[in-house]
Amino acid sequence: MTTGPDGMAVPFYAATGNEVALFEHAHRNRLPVLLKGPTGCGKTRFVAHMAARLGRPLHTVSCHDDLTAADLTGRYLLKGGDTVWADGPLTRAVREGAVCYLDEVVEARKDVTVVLHPLTDDRRILPLERTGETLEAPPDFMLVVSYNPGYQNILKSLKPSTRQRFVAISFDFPAPEAETAIVARESGLEHNQVAPLVRLANALRALKGQDLEEGVSTRLLIYCATLIRSGLPRGDAVLAAMVEPLTDDDEVKAALLRTAELTI
Ligand code: ADP
Repeated sequence: MTTGPDGMAVPFYAATGNEVALFEHAHRNRLPVLLKGPTGCGKTRFVAHMAARLGRPLHTVSCHDDLTAADLTGRYLLKGGDTVWADGPLTRAVREGAVCYLDEVVEARKDVTVVLHPLTDDRRILPLERTGETLEAPPDFMLVVSYNPGYQNILKSLKPSTRQRFVAISFDFPAPEAETAIVARESGLEHNQVAPLVRLANALRALKGQDLEEGVSTRLLIYCATLIRSGLPRGDAVLAAMVEPLTDDDEVKAALLRTAELTI
């Protein structure tokens, strides 16, 4: 098992390009990073791997459409009659010099960008209006955000004034050989049983855009292989992990199953 500088285990991550070096350079030079790519292709695992490798704590926030700036910075809470300030995850990360990862940042409310802007330029400050404090981010603090350009719509896309504050890394599903090795490792299923599943995933990904919004993710492939390893018949596993999650439309489902029959 690999360990980071603080002795903590480093989660397994198979690099697919120069992303590890890029992230290290960004961290060293105090630059924020934007990860772009489809869901389930390894972005979250990559950030966990990098934070552990750099020996920094990680605070991850899955953004959603109700997430406000106060959810990130913190708020006053009533505790036994007293009002006490509670740091949000972003404030904690700034205080600790940690990595803060905002997953699917476009989902969050607009006021979130207001707190991100002064943190993502050379000021690197986090003003906490409610407490009157202005925190200066220590050198080790790093902001990482991700978004999925696939389900971007006009209302929910990163504004250029925000995205141009980040160094960006594009992610995609790994090449078949690499993906087979990842899925075999994560699921424990034999390499030669995983290879046809990866072939099928790529055949299904090729259908994206016609009737499918998203292709099969590496995460779903791992689910499928895990079910097979656990003893579920392969056809049932493929249906449950690689077909049903992609569509609710019976005709599309039938087409995906035909592709599955022809591919594996
Ligand atoms: P995302 O954040 O892009 O939605 P995740 O990081 O959660 O996706 O990836 C889903 C799963 O796929 C991970 O839990 C991990 O098991 C696996 N995975 C994907 N890519 C890799 C990779 N390059 N190295 C190791 N595991 C990977």
